Amino acid sequence: MNAQVNAQTTEQPIFNRLALIGFGLIGGSIARAARAQGVVRSIVATARSPQTRKRVAELGVADQVVESNAAAVEGADLVIVCIPVGACGDVAKEIGPHLMKGATVSDVGSVKGSIVRDMAPHLPAHVHFVPAHPVAGTEHSGPDAGFAELFENRWCILTPPVGNEPQAVDKLAAFWRLLGANVETMTPDHHDLVLAVTSHLPHLIAYTIVGTADELETVTRSEVLKFSAGGFRDFTRIAASDPVMWRDIFLANKDGVLEMLGRFNEDISALTKAIRRGDGEALYEQFTRTRAIRRGIIEAGQDTDAADFGRPHGHED
Ligand code: NAP
Repeated sequence: MNAQVNAQTTEQPIFNRLALIGFGLIGGSIARAARAQGVVRSIVATARSPQTRKRVAELGVADQVVESNAAAVEGADLVIVCIPVGACGDVAKEIGPHLMKGATVSDVGSVKGSIVRDMAPHLPAHVHFVPAHPVAGTEHSGPDAGFAELFENRWCILTPPVGNEPQAVDKLAAFWRLLGANVETMTPDHHDLVLAVTSHLPHLIAYTIVGTADELETVTRSEVLKFSAGGFRDFTRIAASDPVMWRDIFLANKDGVLEMLGRFNEDISALTKAIRRGDGEALYEQFTRTRAIRRGIIEAGQDTDAADFGRPHGHED
């Protein structure tokens, strides 16, 4: 079941101290947006490597940069874990004993079932666990990649476990709305199936086709680059997405991706057959149907019809 979360009229700032664990594209964008909107009183950040922590301090986009995850969550009433999906369980284990009573703990992972399975067992009963996925991103990574407008008019999906306090969910929804996002709730499994087809499968196709082109012996690499405007260029942008993040997504959403990949393989077999048989009618019908879907996306405000993607900052993961 999907549900729009009720709008909240809480005065800003709605959280006192935001702890960001991991400071790449998403963590860095949350910090910039939260500060720009005055949604939290202060921001404490940490990251795994000393280089990233140093860079975050240089950028000045957090009020405090600390060296450990445990230190980051001390006294924080909102903790958001912004690291690859496969690392979230270990971090939950690490921060569990240090979390403040009544704190909200969330994440931004692109897969939700595995996040709930990996993180929930390590979190104390006195915190509110509200997993989240902002469906917004670019192919860039690291602390410099973030920008305050990333979430504007994009969706943020919350997947609160059954029995969660509705007030905690509403408060996190209000946080994301103030960052510019539209918020919806759904179950983790439903999220993973939807995202398998809208995000994970397209990335897999991009990773595949760019690899295929690269391996062609009859077409030189320079020709592939030279004539890449013919659709290929858009695939190369998606295929430039972070390898660790995407490895983790496919490992974590195995069932959802395999389900959609099965359907995709059937459909591509049908198109293969149509091409082989010279069945122009079947091809025309399919392409007309997909053109209408594209128009629907534009009407829903999820993209513009300007040429060349029309969005300066990329895609959604
Ligand atoms: P990113 O720019 O690569 O930043 C990742 C951060 O996680 C860095 O601070 C990195 O620390 C840290 N990290 C990496 N491996 C870690 C580990 N094993 N343990 C602890 N920390 C680790 O990534 P991102 O794009 O912000 O993605 C973060 C999360 O957001 C992922 O779960 C992804 O699924 C989700 N997401 C991404 C997008 C997107 O388009 N990129 C969109 C929506 C959701 P160091 O810098 O110190 O190495």
